[in-house]
Amino acid sequence: MRAAVLGEFNQDLCIETVADPECPDNGVVLEVAACGVCRSDYHGWTGGHPKVRPGDILGHEYCGTVVEAGPQARHRAGDRLIAPFILGCGTCPLCQAGTSNACEGAVVPGFGAPGAYAQYVAVPYDHNLVHLPDTMAPALAAGLGCRVTTAWHALTDRSQVRAGEWVAIHGTGGIGLSALLLAKMLGAQVVVVDVVEEKLAHALSLGADAAVNATKEDVAQAIRDLTGGGAQVSVEALGIAQTTNASVECLATLGRHVHVGMPSGDGMMTVNMRAIYSKQLAFYGTRGMPGWKYPRLLDMIARGEVDLSPMVAREISLSDAGAELAAMSGPTSPGTAVITDLAS
Ligand SMILES: [Zn+2]
Ligand SMILES: [Zn+2]
Repeated sequence: MRAAVLGEFNQDLCIETVADPECPDNGVVLEVAACGVCRSDYHGWTGGHPKVRPGDILGHEYCGTVVEAGPQARHRAGDRLIAPFILGCGTCPLCQAGTSNACEGAVVPGFGAPGAYAQYVAVPYDHNLVHLPDTMAPALAAGLGCRVTTAWHALTDRSQVRAGEWVAIHGTGGIGLSALLLAKMLGAQVVVVDVVEEKLAHALSLGADAAVNATKEDVAQAIRDLTGGGAQVSVEALGIAQTTNASVECLATLGRHVHVGMPSGDGMMTVNMRAIYSKQLAFYGTRGMPGWKYPRLLDMIARGEVDLSPMVAREISLSDAGAELAAMSGPTSPGTAVITDLAS
């Protein structure tokens, strides 16, 4: 099969012919229909993710059609499926409690197992996968494996956003845009923060109530002024110290910070603990979404309660993926790229 292999960190991906994946006994092989290009991939590509080494195949936001099913698989050849990026084992106490996104034995294709920047991907623990609605385009569905589901879980489970609350969103990449669209659906007021004016304008056109340019304003002060004392919930969607501090500092007393952005490197950063302590904030980490939450989310999208199509800015070919990753080292344009042409 054709695959985009990480030859060396920070170098263009190598388009190579590699062996087709072997089908796991407890899972399936998917013919990849689409795979999103995510900032987490960028961390892997730069050497900033502990599980990504040269020779690996990235790609964790995928959907596709089953071409082979193992003897213990739940799904069958021909099934059109979407995967949460964290594949919980299904049997440990965390999985059995419904929190498979926290499973310690989870497999994550693209981070420690071959990913979906390829024509085929092996997916163990296929009980995590769900059927894709016929009406949903693969490019949109691919984003559901990571950004949309992560944002949904951050808002509805971790920070428990309520209608009428102010939600601040730091970073308007894939996670940030998803969080904006979903928070608006939940009835929240949303202020977005970025350093790229074009992305702020894009977010405003998609329903954001206010926007703050971090290169021009003191973000935390601007948000406290806009919201009359601070946001109730703040979503950190980048993973760096500057946005983490802006997030805790922009919150109202008893506010909830939810940390979605993956910290790079060893993860150490200096955080304003006085803001957390004196305002008695909650600080939530979050990662992924358990697969059982998919059906309700997919139903809401299918019913048209939220339109996530503005998230997909570009459909690209496999050989363009390296350039998309390289572009993330600077300011990026609005929306996200999804690989939909796996053959070229
Ligand atoms: Zn991702
Ligand atoms: Zn488990």
